[in-house]
Amino acid sequence: MTGFVMDFLGAELRETGGAGERIGNWRTGRDTAGILWLAMDCEGSSTNVISRKVLEELNTHLAAAEADLPRALVIRSAKDGGFAAGADIAEFKEVASDPETLLREGHAVFDRLAALACPTICVVHGACLGGGFELALACDIRIGVRGASFAFPEVQLGLHPGLGGTFRSVALIDPVEAMTLMLTGKSAHTKKAKALGLLDAVVKERHVAAAVQAAANGDLEEHEQGLKARAFSLGTARSYAARQMRSQTEKKAPKAHYPAPHALIDLWEEHGDDPAAMQKAEIESFGKLLQTDTSKNLQRAFFLRQRLRGNAKGKDGIQNVHVIGAGAMGAEIAAMAAIRGKRVTLGDTSNAALGRAMKLAAEICVSKHLGGIEKRNALDRLMPDPEGYGIATADLIIEAGPETMEIKRSIYEGLASRMKDGAILASNTSSLSVDELATDAPDAARFAGLHFFNPVSRIDLVEVVKGPDTSQETAARLAAFCGAIGKLPVHVGDYPGFLVNRALVPYLMEAMALLDDGVPKEVIDSAALKFGMPMGPVTLADQVGLDIGLHVAQSLSEGLEKPMAPISQTLRDKVAAGETGKKAGKGFYDWSDGAPNPQSDKDGPDDLTDRLILPMLDACVEVLRRGVVAAEDDIDAAMIFATGWAPFRGGPMHYARSRGIDAVVQRLHDLSAAHGPRFDPDPGWQSLS
Ligand code: NAD
Repeated sequence: MTGFVMDFLGAELRETGGAGERIGNWRTGRDTAGILWLAMDCEGSSTNVISRKVLEELNTHLAAAEADLPRALVIRSAKDGGFAAGADIAEFKEVASDPETLLREGHAVFDRLAALACPTICVVHGACLGGGFELALACDIRIGVRGASFAFPEVQLGLHPGLGGTFRSVALIDPVEAMTLMLTGKSAHTKKAKALGLLDAVVKERHVAAAVQAAANGDLEEHEQGLKARAFSLGTARSYAARQMRSQTEKKAPKAHYPAPHALIDLWEEHGDDPAAMQKAEIESFGKLLQTDTSKNLQRAFFLRQRLRGNAKGKDGIQNVHVIGAGAMGAEIAAMAAIRGKRVTLGDTSNAALGRAMKLAAEICVSKHLGGIEKRNALDRLMPDPEGYGIATADLIIEAGPETMEIKRSIYEGLASRMKDGAILASNTSSLSVDELATDAPDAARFAGLHFFNPVSRIDLVEVVKGPDTSQETAARLAAFCGAIGKLPVHVGDYPGFLVNRALVPYLMEAMALLDDGVPKEVIDSAALKFGMPMGPVTLADQVGLDIGLHVAQSLSEGLEKPMAPISQTLRDKVAAGETGKKAGKGFYDWSDGAPNPQSDKDGPDDLTDRLILPMLDACVEVLRRGVVAAEDDIDAAMIFATGWAPFRGGPMHYARSRGIDAVVQRLHDLSAAHGPRFDPDPGWQSLS
């Protein structure tokens, strides 16, 4: 039994002799003050999800409460980790088969809760997401334990809230704030949630019982919507705000790719003054959105994430980590490992680099919303270590030194005598051969690539690169380590560019070839953005650094059978002139006033988008054929979580399959005839059709 259940169904019920009876996914009991406590405790899982079963059981508890009305009803979670993760996405397929009936069933339960003739109080600790948030909204009063946070992540699944969240949130708080939460999926942490009026009180865990008593006695001041919010009962005010929301949303989530936020805006504009009509329209709209390819593909992306999490199962046996190189990559890797509880030492030949790394670690703690004590603990776990004392105790050494064989070799020299038995050495190399590096490593079986992406604190994917001699155990422990520090590992083989860069570099190089052909950079970037890439290839090249891009392209083209686009003269000239992109303030774009915003309505060549996208698909097929990755789903997952590859298309392989393998192959033949053999379809396509 978890701490919370002990506290609330133990301490509160001790006097009555009960310890909280478990019925299905709920623990329940009445305390001496006549308050009914319902603690959600989903069976067989460390997280609560609002499944059909959970709702059916809640319905039964509510029926019992109606028959014997308590002084108040409290709903909270019995899980230490948080309130609830949202609806059960695994059930969405079933819901899609008959959305009207199944959604109405769920709505009826929350309506019943909202109508209960006693105060209903929701106590929230940790994350309260999606369906969990909607459950909290159906209660009269919400008490937050410090650290509580609310979010509607439905938009990331191509949906909007579907269990009453749309009409209840706009009725409770400033509708524009509620819409912003639903449109962006962003979290409202405790302080913000209180300021918005989502929470009526914020207390420490030990004061929850007293706050519940106060709420039951009517002593807690409930949030009221302000004047500004009431103004939106006027259709004209809503229409004006809706227009602004539409234009902002269109920039980030174009309607053609992401219909859900636009449907939500329509919903509010039309029905924002009539909760009953908005509820009816929410059900209809949610049902329609469930059928869209966008939602199906975004749900696919959700399960792809789970798939990669599955790779991280098991124990890593890693407490102490030593990172060599405190540059752009090493600093962030060290910070992320320390934040997630590893003891980390960080070495560098430059003290200035170590100083910058420590400062950056503190900034990352803030961006990850760590509380004061958590931040202090994380920073205590991270030690600058210019002498490399940490090497002797490290279970894992991550080398993130400069990308040359000579420097890496010199770093590995002498590690053997200093590393402890059984320790793993991993390199963050992005373009060198893991197999070749292994010859200089102390033990090739305990050596592998561990390829993080930049910026490490924001990109979840990590490629675990198994060289020919890397042991299975080493690869498995490294994958588990990735999971332990909140990353998503994908297993890949040693191949130029591994998986992600192998696929991405042809996209960048083709963009450079198009530039050389005279196509304006804004036209190229706009084509990629219209396809759904998060950033155009020219902007991306500037962001990565044109010198790094050139280096990676050169080393990659040496190791591949099939030619890529010839390395662009414009690119070489830029690098020679020191215009290396964002870091230099100038590359293809001028970055001195911030990030460029390339937009162009001009049409490029007819085959522009395919010239950019199809080489990526072809490279994916090549790595699959060569066994660099085990499965198509690994490719889609890696490309989505490392590059943001148009998630609403379900990943490159899924896109190829939905477009039709034969059609893609034919198009590659056409492009090859027009532009050269770099477009020749890989032989691997044959085994896909
Ligand atoms: P960087 O130049 O920013 O940092 C390298 C650091 O290593 C510097 O602080 C330098 O002082 C230090 N260093 C040099 N010699 C050393 C030695 N003998 N011992 C200890 N430290 C030493 O480089 P980076 O961008 O962080 O790249 C590091 C590694 O990560 C490279 O292998 C690179 O290919 C790889 N990588 C980089 C990116 C990226 O986008 N920057 C992405 C993925 C992988």
